[in-house]
Amino acid sequence: MKNLSRILCLLIILLSSITADAFLLRVGLKESVSKVTVSATSYFDLIDMHTNRVILTTYGWRNYRIEAENGGLSVEGVGTFYGPIILAPISNASGKVDDRAYRGKLEISRTNGSRIMVVNIVDLEEYLYGVVKSEMSESFPIEALKAQAIIARTFALSNLKKHQDKGYHLCPTVCCQVYKGVSAESKITTAAVDQTLSLVLSYEGSLARTYYHSCCGGKTAPFIWNKQGETSYLQSKNCPFCNHARNSSYSWTQRISFYEIQKAFNTGKITNISVNEYDESGRAKTILICHGAGNSTINTNKFRNIMGYTRVKSTLFTLHNDGQGVVFNGKGYGHGVGLCQWGARGMAEAGYSFKEILGFYYSGVCLQKIVFEGEK
Ligand SMILES: [Zn+2]
Ligand SMILES: [Zn+2]
Repeated sequence: MKNLSRILCLLIILLSSITADAFLLRVGLKESVSKVTVSATSYFDLIDMHTNRVILTTYGWRNYRIEAENGGLSVEGVGTFYGPIILAPISNASGKVDDRAYRGKLEISRTNGSRIMVVNIVDLEEYLYGVVKSEMSESFPIEALKAQAIIARTFALSNLKKHQDKGYHLCPTVCCQVYKGVSAESKITTAAVDQTLSLVLSYEGSLARTYYHSCCGGKTAPFIWNKQGETSYLQSKNCPFCNHARNSSYSWTQRISFYEIQKAFNTGKITNISVNEYDESGRAKTILICHGAGNSTINTNKFRNIMGYTRVKSTLFTLHNDGQGVVFNGKGYGHGVGLCQWGARGMAEAGYSFKEILGFYYSGVCLQKIVFEGEK
């Protein structure tokens, strides 16, 4: 643990703050549907933003169908409006779209081609209430959940331009972060968000790239996707914390038949598969497939993607052939870069704080409070 304490010295809370001009997130819930049903958990207003008029104030028990029609948005039983239409809950209610409740407001607008888009306009912290439990089990200790809340906050703010062309910041899937609204909230994950209010990780004055994954299998992976920016805090390191009795992904075995691989990659009859190249963390970078029509070298991430991320759980594996197929003996689950969630659990159970967890997986980053422009 000598190394660990040396690394932790670098993790400090600075008095200066990063500023950002966003505070309300736009999450694209539905991108192109023909109709939606809206309601709320209590009273709500519907406002036509074209005229800035309240077109309906009602109680949430009734569902209203909204459809794109004649260059406008028809609200069942109310009329047709140019839009966008905002569903604004009154007091503490949550707006519902297709029976799923969300904090904040819902914006229903027409897209080109008479389709409907729904965007949830939500406070960053309230968005995180609906993310943390979806990204990490609520059974994990609070210090691990707090670390998760901080990296989810940092991830959200550093990806605000991801869906800029579509008119929203983030989508609610694994492409960004899984966000399921109020139904995915729990007391403990909400506490993890509240207890880390506005905290983000930064490196040299910019938001850090807070990649995370389920389990590294004993050694995290170096940052590989591209060379943009300084990512020295995303280097491969030994992780002694994720070998946990409850973690079924720490080591795994998977057999896949040659025939299935031959079909998936359109090769000749396969005779042998081997690892072609390893990275510095011992992960397979490429595999070599020998087959009737020659040899094919395949990127292992692509291989995982095609054969299924849940079957080939990581690229940290050795393999052997059994005549008719290939058997993978692997460790870990996920890409392996950045924070190892099972490792965060192990650290929290061993008594480490969220600051120590973050300092271990992102060596050299700073923990800062983010202040939004216009905020006092
Ligand atoms: Zn996305
Ligand atoms: Zn780990």
